[in-house]
Amino acid sequence: MADRYLSFTGTAPGRLLSRRLGLPRPVPLKRRSAGPDLDGGLLHLTAGRSGLGLAPVLARTGLPTGEPGDANDTGRPAAVVLDATGVRDVEGLAEVHAALHPVVRSVAASGRIVLLGSPLDAADHHQAAAQQALEGFTRSLGKEIGRGATVNLVRLTDADAAESTLRFLLSPRSAYVSGQVIEVGADATAGTGTGTGTEGAPPAGPWDLPLAGRTALVTGGARGIGEAVAETLARDGAEVVVLDVPGAEADARRVAERLGGLALPLDITAADAGARIAEALPDGLDVLVHNAGITRDRRLANMPAERWAPVLEVNLASVLRTTDALLAAGTLKRGGRIVATASIAGIAGNAGQTNYGASKAGVIGLVRSLAPRAAAGHGVTVNAVAPGFIETKMTAAIPLVIREAGRRMNSLAQGGLPVDVAETTAWLAHPASGAVNGQVVRVCGQSLLGA
Ligand code: NAD
Repeated sequence: MADRYLSFTGTAPGRLLSRRLGLPRPVPLKRRSAGPDLDGGLLHLTAGRSGLGLAPVLARTGLPTGEPGDANDTGRPAAVVLDATGVRDVEGLAEVHAALHPVVRSVAASGRIVLLGSPLDAADHHQAAAQQALEGFTRSLGKEIGRGATVNLVRLTDADAAESTLRFLLSPRSAYVSGQVIEVGADATAGTGTGTGTEGAPPAGPWDLPLAGRTALVTGGARGIGEAVAETLARDGAEVVVLDVPGAEADARRVAERLGGLALPLDITAADAGARIAEALPDGLDVLVHNAGITRDRRLANMPAERWAPVLEVNLASVLRTTDALLAAGTLKRGGRIVATASIAGIAGNAGQTNYGASKAGVIGLVRSLAPRAAAGHGVTVNAVAPGFIETKMTAAIPLVIREAGRRMNSLAQGGLPVDVAETTAWLAHPASGAVNGQVVRVCGQSLLGA
């Protein structure tokens, strides 16, 4: 499972050879396990006229924040935030170029560039063109920047509501998230009593143990990505419930015991799964992570119904059923979070995966449709993570050549780790992420598939 090529290109001969041959040159990514913060300062740039009031939020990230030429300008920023919310036309885009052109080469390895944009104005096609242009700019820069750096775009109207998102993107927790466009609206769960702040005030945190006193259930939590999600939510203070099939009960118990949580042996496709979860959680649930998933690959011409049905059943039908049941029963508390697991196969499609691609695209449809209604009716946000190539037992079983292609065909030229999906889930589950709703965030190192 180890990425030997990544280790090799970390050596002097490996670096030389990969450069000479024009081969991908992945660098080891800085993740949170190596420290909670990026190594270096944050450069705050602006293009166009902005009324965002971003400085206090950036100051709270804890990164030394400066503008070009001032005391905190070390010349090698770990992060660059470009506020382009005021860009309304092609002249404004020239300011984006002028702001980033001189600094882009100096961004540190595993650095971050975050562009901030505004929602597209349906009544002003010049503004819409300029703001949409930021997406093409972000995705192109993400593909060329290299050295483990990431580039993302956040569309927002309120800097305080985006604090949890900015903290995530400006930290090692977002190591494998690049080329994404994330919309942050108004707090969908504000005033529910379980949010982190009162309306109008900046979200108060806490930022260290944000899920303390909250309960999180992870389906398929006995291994792989689900296990990492359970671990990360427990690290953030949640009491975790590790749900997995009865056949994986021993593993689920092992994970739950290690994390001081509960194991719940249950096949999520059972017709009464929602009712049984509600029964097991009489005090309710704050975070529901639909992670359980299976593949039964075959090209459509060779795919009998027996390979189609279970994939749709586990990956989509059970997600719809349990979501409906837990919302209707009131098990999911106000201020709650649903995070579903899609896949880039649900965005780009994949030969041999009509069943899987359909199920994961279905998850995206569910998220987009339900998010505004779940927020309005239940004070619950609904988002999805869409992993790309993640180093798990599932991807270790892929034949070598296809595995190597999958690993390298992304801007970071390497596979992600389960913890990358877990950190993204934890950000979406954060009590201060109530303004992030209906989003599908790819954790794929900016995979070239479906980009
Ligand atoms: P995995 O096979 O290692 O783990 C999946 C877990 O789900 C297992 O513990 C399994 O027992 C459990 N599960 C399966 N059916 C279940 C059911 N009916 N009820 C309860 N639990 C059930 O998979 P993984 O690689 O960790 O993937 C986790 C999720 O991420 C899946 O939804 C998968 O489709 C998605 N995903 C993974 C990748 C990747 O590269 N590994 C890429 C994209 C999406």
